[in-house]
Amino acid sequence: MPTNPTIISLLSSYANKTSSAVEVVSDYLKQIQEKNGELNAVLSTREEAIDEAGAIDEARASGKEMGPLAGIPILIKDNILVRGQKACGGSQILENYIAAYSATVVERLVAAGAIILGRTNMDEFAMGSSTESSHFGPTKNPVDPTRVPGGSSGGSAAAVAAGFAPVALGSDTGGSIRQPASLCGIVGLKPTYGRVSRFGLMSLSSSLDVIGPMTNTVEDAELVMSVIEGSDVKDATSHALLRLEKAKTDSDTMKGKRIGVPREYFIDGMDAEVRARVEESIDRLREQGAIFKEISLPMTKYALETYYVIMPAEASSNLARYDGVRYGFSATGADLTETYSMTRGEGFGAEVKRRILVGNFTLSAGYSDAYYHKALKVRRLIADDFAKAFKDVDVIVGPTSPSVAWKIGEKFNDPIAMYLSDIYTVSANLAGIPGLSVPCGLAHGLPVGLQILGPHFGERELYRVGNIMERPLKK
Ligand code: GLN
Repeated sequence: MPTNPTIISLLSSYANKTSSAVEVVSDYLKQIQEKNGELNAVLSTREEAIDEAGAIDEARASGKEMGPLAGIPILIKDNILVRGQKACGGSQILENYIAAYSATVVERLVAAGAIILGRTNMDEFAMGSSTESSHFGPTKNPVDPTRVPGGSSGGSAAAVAAGFAPVALGSDTGGSIRQPASLCGIVGLKPTYGRVSRFGLMSLSSSLDVIGPMTNTVEDAELVMSVIEGSDVKDATSHALLRLEKAKTDSDTMKGKRIGVPREYFIDGMDAEVRARVEESIDRLREQGAIFKEISLPMTKYALETYYVIMPAEASSNLARYDGVRYGFSATGADLTETYSMTRGEGFGAEVKRRILVGNFTLSAGYSDAYYHKALKVRRLIADDFAKAFKDVDVIVGPTSPSVAWKIGEKFNDPIAMYLSDIYTVSANLAGIPGLSVPCGLAHGLPVGLQILGPHFGERELYRVGNIMERPLKK
């Protein structure tokens, strides 16, 4: 097995019988066993995976019709439920919690023949950009293990980059799929809000959260999306979709495509080499016939402040359910109030507590107009910026992250520096639009991601531009 096969290549090796699902699943489990000790990307694996792969091989051999992901191993972020498996959201407060049901995405994957290989590490309750705030210890970046993999889906990104699975699921509330994909050199898609059901995803910030795929190629991400997307009666914000015609990997051109480059995305604090890689990507797309336009997204300067008011407000409300009575960890106090405060005091880590405090403050009487309600208004303006821009351009490109992967520990005790690294990703969540991060070369020897943003439900355009970025450079 090549070190990092794509889903598409695995499916063809099954079809022409050069490998079996049992072999592939066993190989991945072996890789995890050998290399995960250093990286800490995977929190647990499922031994049943090999038997399930055997059942898929038998079904195939007996000529049964197979699902689109038959025999494809997949890793799942620790905040997405798989019935009967631990799901801790990277937190001590859910340390021994066993999921009572499966997320809709997991059910759809299994129905398509995918094999759930295990669960991946993440920042506690998906709050963070480095996967250092996990109760289970930090994940390391496989490209350079002295560096962070990004976050919060850093375990998923590191696992795919290390060849532990051809695909992992992540969740993206403010960049948690795209940024770690960028820092680990893989592909990550944050779908349009509502395109993928959130049922069975631990709620962080319900108006921003979305589940999406992290893969080696854009084509693989598109295939996984075709399985997990679509309406779900269990999530009222999910949308019914017309099936998209698949993007062509080899013959799509950029002729006549209008691509916007926001002035505000090329800022002073940005790494010069990162900027150079993004500019080279722009040149590449231009050579393919794309027409570039400088655009302005003037509300970008308020995006982080807006996000870091709305997100903690919603999170503080969602996390109120972890009270030591219904789920997971519980400390015993003298009375109920003390039980609540001891459970939450001991069970949550520092970043989660910080956001609960901020959220409770911005929602409290006397302050909610000045903070939360004002942030909602600015959110509308940010969405309007994009709506206006998409009248003139088909997609928008820029960097996914202002820097490459930083050293473990470098920003961990400086929340503001950590928040600033989300500058290019949070706007898409506030506006609900899709964003794709694709690798676009190296800076200082580390991966750089190009972010491609599209209008609501405009994923197909993202796939097209992403596919072009993956084609080998013509000499
Ligand atoms: N880094 C961002 C945060 O800390 C995004 C998190 C996410 O998308 N889950 O909130």
